[in-house]
Amino acid sequence: MKSELESIAPGPSTGRAPDHRRSPVSSARDKAGGESPASPGIDCRSAAASAVLSQLKWDDVFAEAESILRRLIQFETVNPPGNERPAADYLAELLRQEGFEPEIFEGAPTRANLVCRLKGTGEKPPLQLDGHLDVVCADESQWTHPPFAADVAGGYIWGRGALDMKQMVTMSLVCMLLFKRLGVRFKRDIIFTAVADEETGGTHGAKYLVDNHADRIRAEYCLGEIGGFGISKWGKTFYPVQVAEKGLCWFELVARGEAGHSSIPDPDSSLIRLSEAIIRLGRNGLPRHDNVVAGHLAKALLASQRFPTSIASAFLLHPRLTSLVLNRLVPESEQATMLSAMLHNTASPTTLRAGGKTNIIPAVARVEVDGRFLPGQTAESFLAEVKDVVGPGIEINVLKKLQPTTVDPDDPIMGAIARVLKNHDPQAVALPVMISATTNATHYSTLNTKYFGFSPVKVAHHDSFRSMFHGADERIPVEGFRFGIRVLAELVEEVCS
Ligand SMILES: [Zn+2]
Repeated sequence: MKSELESIAPGPSTGRAPDHRRSPVSSARDKAGGESPASPGIDCRSAAASAVLSQLKWDDVFAEAESILRRLIQFETVNPPGNERPAADYLAELLRQEGFEPEIFEGAPTRANLVCRLKGTGEKPPLQLDGHLDVVCADESQWTHPPFAADVAGGYIWGRGALDMKQMVTMSLVCMLLFKRLGVRFKRDIIFTAVADEETGGTHGAKYLVDNHADRIRAEYCLGEIGGFGISKWGKTFYPVQVAEKGLCWFELVARGEAGHSSIPDPDSSLIRLSEAIIRLGRNGLPRHDNVVAGHLAKALLASQRFPTSIASAFLLHPRLTSLVLNRLVPESEQATMLSAMLHNTASPTTLRAGGKTNIIPAVARVEVDGRFLPGQTAESFLAEVKDVVGPGIEINVLKKLQPTTVDPDDPIMGAIARVLKNHDPQAVALPVMISATTNATHYSTLNTKYFGFSPVKVAHHDSFRSMFHGADERIPVEGFRFGIRVLAELVEEVCS
């Protein structure tokens, strides 16, 4: 049986393999008049690409994509336990119907990772399109529409995973189907990965693939989360592109003292000294650090604004003015917090443990702290900063570490992203950003894959994308999803040509 996507290809549908030597894409390129000056490794051909892609019956593409996304949302892949296998089987069947040979690798029983390749000529190394199939939990009582019903209402598709990140899984799959149908033979293979277990660290997902099937997923570039969601501001739409991810260093602070009867207070008790350390950490924060990503972000903001807003961006990187700019000149506290996190290591106390009885002073008090450090630094240099702030007499024990990741914000793919975005949104500005969370980038980058977080979606003015990520009422605007499909398809075409 063939998928409905058969109908989207231009020309008669014969069911035979298309002629790769003279594909609709290459003839349209020829008509478009050769190549523009190219960045190294990526040809600037979006005009030619859109000539081919504009022949498609996009309404049919969108209808099919929306039906696939809704079906994917209906698989309850809450992690834990994940149980991604049925969703992966569903995608594999769609791919097999189109003549692909998808593979499924289980990192643990039912923790399925789908890998599928669209072969190119091999003149350039592969491009990977990555999404995760698992989602975080959803408390149905807080939702307007049930989180796994995939209702369509008010111009949105509602459901857990609609933004994080079954939309990217669907868009990537649609790109595979489209280009297969068009008979395109790119210079790069396209590798589609739909993986398990991202939400709890990727042990059974991306990390499992990297450790056990690296040959199947080795690529020059990977497009995945987090980024691509448009933010409207100052008459522009800013599309963040993740180019760096902070390192992770979870640790505990431990204070020890004398246990005793609490009818006689001890101003030096473990609990009081630990509390003082927590307050110093919380109130003082850690020192500011320049870094290449924050520099690029400020420059990109600067270039996109008029006086006087541009002044704020210019001052952002001035060591003594950063706090002033963030506190006074950045209008939304959400943005100020994000910018601040790109210029500082951070340490957030989360879990306190001390004592068990109201009338006993505890001998030991502990707090667990979620630490994140900037690219270019180490867990050790980060902990030295923490030690300076918390002061003497407090033990620091490391609980978990992950290295930061970073790619060149000037990589030619950033230019390709900017060009393709502008084709569909003349006000678009692509912004390189660093995120504080960890994603699959941490695993794929161990294979030297250049990971860019870009899953394009046009978000409505009034929607707070951040509150929907992992929050109640997660939903994707239907128009924004359609925008994303076209942008991703054109970007893939440009990067792989
Ligand atoms: Zn995610």
